[in-house]
Amino acid sequence: MEVLLPHSLEEALAIKGERPEATPIAGGTDLMVDLNFGRLRPAAMIDLSRVAELASWQQEDGHVFLGAGLTYATIVNEMPEFKPLVQASRSVGSPQIRNRGTVGGNLGTASPAGDALPVLAAYDADVVLRSRARGERSLAWHAFFTGPKKTAIAPDELIIGTRWRRLRGPGSFSKIGTRNAMVISVAGLCLVVDEENGAVKVALGSVGPTILRATEAEQQIAAAMTSSGAWQDPSITIPDQVIDEFGSLVAAAAKPLDDVRGTAAYRRHGCRVLARRALIWALNERRLPAWL
Ligand SMILES: Cc1cc2nc3c(=O)[nH]c(=O)nc-3n(C[C@H](O)[C@H](O)[C@H](O)COP(=O)(O)OP(=O)(O)OC[C@H]3O[C@@H](n4cnc5c(N)ncnc54)[C@H](O)[C@@H]3O)c2cc1C
Repeated sequence: MEVLLPHSLEEALAIKGERPEATPIAGGTDLMVDLNFGRLRPAAMIDLSRVAELASWQQEDGHVFLGAGLTYATIVNEMPEFKPLVQASRSVGSPQIRNRGTVGGNLGTASPAGDALPVLAAYDADVVLRSRARGERSLAWHAFFTGPKKTAIAPDELIIGTRWRRLRGPGSFSKIGTRNAMVISVAGLCLVVDEENGAVKVALGSVGPTILRATEAEQQIAAAMTSSGAWQDPSITIPDQVIDEFGSLVAAAAKPLDDVRGTAAYRRHGCRVLARRALIWALNERRLPAWL
């Protein structure tokens, strides 16, 4: 097997243009598992770990750009203000996996259990792709994921990173698994509040063929907060019945299957519990002066 070692993004894109069949490898924490189990034997691999341009993040014009090569460990260390993303990153694998694993790799694998993905979906992030021949294009996260472990990336493209509009408001990521660490999620949920637009966004992982948004639940809680005046006055209490209904609508948005990790019924129940909890955390956090 040939291993190609570009030292710049330009070089990496040139190689991908000339060798579209070559498989990119970033941290290798998904790819090497497939190689070791004999499920994959690419003729060539392009090692992206030396491409510095992919391993940075920046903020510009109210938007955040996160390079595909950013590891979970770097996110935890450098991006504390993006709490749901940090919570998801901290929940990935073990320290070794977090030191190697990248968000670009999570996007590339496109598993419905990828823990960074519900966060990007709740942020309404775009995935930025680039080829040497056609330049850059951005796809909304839901257009990028075309099915379980399937994406819209073209053979000569690389994932450059992901971009989203920075939101003001509390949020969280939480997941259910069979133990606390080194676990594939049975259900994962990210909830973020967008104070400027009076919106609540909820994305689910591991409970459908791809990442899902719970749009009916989002509309129900945003409307309840509007009619109660809670957007203007965070001290207003949202009745338990409304929070329960929100949990039920989130559970109804899931499209789970029975598998070795959990039954569909358990996953649906998990979504309800995660949703209620995440909403209560966010409503409590809104009462803190930081968001006013
Ligand atoms: C023990 C263990 C525990 C794990 N725990 C978790 C967990 O808790 N949560 C979780 O979400 N995941 C987990 N994973 C899976 C894995 O760590 C993540 O999916 C990680 O984000 C993959 O990133 P990577 O850089 O290692 O990807 P790689 O393995 O290098 O690549 C993955 C895929 O993405 C493609 N790719 C990578 N970068 C690019 C790019 N720039 N452009 C185009 N294609 C690209 C590759 O070709 C490949 O198809 C675990 C894995 C292991 C081995």
